[in-house]
Amino acid sequence: MKFQYMGLSSTLLRAIADAGYEKPTPIQWQAIPAVLQGKDVLGIAQTGTGKTASFTLPMIDKLSQGQAKARMPRSLILEPTRELAAQVAESFEKYGKHHKLSKALLIGGVSMQDQVADLDRGVDVLIATPGRLLDHFSRGNLMLSGVRILVIDEADRMLDMGFIPDVEEICTKIAQQHQSLLFSATMPPVIKKLADKFLNDPKVVEVASQSSTADTITQSIRHVGYKAKRQLLRDLLTSEKVNNAIVFCNRKIEVKEVYKSLKRHKFNAGQLHGDMQQSERMEVLSDFKEGKVTILVASDVAARGLDIPSVSHVFNFDVPQQSEDYVHRIGRTGRAGRKGTAITFVTPRDDKYLDAIEKMLGKKLTSPEGNAPTKTDVKSEAKFDKKPHHKGGHKDAKKPQHRHSKPKDGEQNEAKNKPNHNKPHKNDDDKKPNKNKHVKNKSNAKPKESSGFGDNVPNFLK
Ligand code: ADP
Ligand code: MG
Repeated sequence: MKFQYMGLSSTLLRAIADAGYEKPTPIQWQAIPAVLQGKDVLGIAQTGTGKTASFTLPMIDKLSQGQAKARMPRSLILEPTRELAAQVAESFEKYGKHHKLSKALLIGGVSMQDQVADLDRGVDVLIATPGRLLDHFSRGNLMLSGVRILVIDEADRMLDMGFIPDVEEICTKIAQQHQSLLFSATMPPVIKKLADKFLNDPKVVEVASQSSTADTITQSIRHVGYKAKRQLLRDLLTSEKVNNAIVFCNRKIEVKEVYKSLKRHKFNAGQLHGDMQQSERMEVLSDFKEGKVTILVASDVAARGLDIPSVSHVFNFDVPQQSEDYVHRIGRTGRAGRKGTAITFVTPRDDKYLDAIEKMLGKKLTSPEGNAPTKTDVKSEAKFDKKPHHKGGHKDAKKPQHRHSKPKDGEQNEAKNKPNHNKPHKNDDDKKPNKNKHVKNKSNAKPKESSGFGDNVPNFLK
């Protein structure tokens, strides 16, 4: 399949060629013709498969005719976070560079006044986070009666962040005939219900089953005591051939501590968590994309859906407590057919979560030491936990529920709903700096390009 055969305009094809895209990804070649035909679409494909272009490209052509009226946007795209909203705006900029579409971004952390001025000018494409959109709506700053195309993007993230009631409210406010597109990496029951309620006979496009990522990713675990995790991380960062890496922690407090610890040991690290200012987060992200920062310590919520470049390594500093997060995390490596390595740190308290992940994957994750306790393990376990350990037996290990409270524009309250049994430790097992520093401050180490389907053809394109 080629972009040329999908019914897109030649003007748009030029912009696509400029973007360096050779052929559409599976979600794109299945969704774009349906969107152009005016059908509702339910698109399910994991992160990094090109969902954004599968709605922005046809939208640009569809909106190229017609004129926007003041305060009556012609299309609306809902995004769960400010970063994602900003990325979608960039996509419209990139693909729509030969078109004259007006757009506005309604996200938190930016003055309402400026946003109202944008709305007054009339917008073809409105990209918004649900909370901010409803805020403007309730102040009478915009009408939704002109919306002809509605996109609910990253729907499962909306769910994680407690935005589904807001999304539903917005959907019911756009009463008139319109086309609805819903994209999600996964399809939990709540999202299925949302789709059933608001999509009209949609074309369902489902690609790249979750387990298919595993082909290019070498996954393993390391048994480690809680207090030895940072030491282990430093050892692996120096002994493995790490080009660039994301270190995932379950909670933002852990993100901060691991980041500080890596900095203390002169690693070229950055952090991404919900307590940071929007501008700081954007800066770290761009430093990481440019290779100025080579190790990014992040929480799930802060990293969610972001177009982070493919990395050589993913370290799960903590075992994710929801199995789907494991798939999202490791999906940051091994992208576009490249080889990637995912290493998960497992403390004795994590067995229950590891079991759930292994069940989902349908296989056991092994450690290169053959799961025999290493010297570090033995040493640290003694410090770690005096109590006898039963596999999966600790009582606060219930699967966390999706949060129902509404965080303002999302990220601030991340991981609030997660059970918290690893108290932040003030320990410092990481006093001695490490000798072998080849990933340290290696600012010229460029991360591999985002998803460039360069020399290796990704499996999902074959
Ligand atoms: P998703 O929303 O599915 O997580 P994105 O839309 O953010 O994925 O796309 C991930 C990356 O893939 C982006 O960097 C984008 O520029 C790139 N990309 C999208 N479509 C193509 C294509 N057809 N060819 C090459 N790269 C693409
Ligand atoms: Mg996306």
